[in-house]
Amino acid sequence: MNLQHKADKVYKLLLKEYPDAKTALNFKKPFQLLIATILSAQCTDVRVNKVTPALFKKYPSIAAFAGAKQPELEQEIRSTGFFRNKAKNVIACCKEIVENFQAEVPSTMEELKGLPGIGRKTANVVLGNAFAIPGIAVDTHVLRLTNRIGLSKNKNPVKIEFDIMKIIDKNKWTMMSHFLISHGRNICKARKPLCDKCIIEKLCSYKGKTG
Ligand code: SF4
Repeated sequence: MNLQHKADKVYKLLLKEYPDAKTALNFKKPFQLLIATILSAQCTDVRVNKVTPALFKKYPSIAAFAGAKQPELEQEIRSTGFFRNKAKNVIACCKEIVENFQAEVPSTMEELKGLPGIGRKTANVVLGNAFAIPGIAVDTHVLRLTNRIGLSKNKNPVKIEFDIMKIIDKNKWTMMSHFLISHGRNICKARKPLCDKCIIEKLCSYKGKTG
């Protein structure tokens, strides 16, 4: 079976299993998703969602985040880990959006990637979920599952992103990320994948299958 065919079958089966898959981060506006995604690095979405309601109430705009006092913001996001670096990036990123983008989150990969602390993964999350612009966000689940299933042999997230872009239609990129993340959380767990419960087991190339 060629890779396009395999990817298409995986997509269809996961669509049946996770028809409502979407980002687990809560947000109402693009800037809120941008900040939630920065906070989600090395942290669970559940924890980020506990922090953001009070945060978005206190800082209701990009300009408000741009004017935040770093020590104060650090304490407000402390529970998400790496809080010093995250607070620094949030403030620097929002300052640049205020100065160069009229206080509106930019909606292209190039512009997003140029912001402090924003890599391709965060940019793809924002593009796909706040602007409905297709993007494959490669997080730890997408990295693990694409390798196990046999959709990519690469370990580098950017290379994986480009591998998947070649074998899946553009209009499916964002949902494919969501499907793989959902499947990674529920079934294809890092330490012990539940292969006997897996609906894509027949398509999967993983040698260490369980069950
Ligand atoms: S068969 Fe096992 S390793 Fe392959 S995707 Fe399913 S759970 Fe993951």
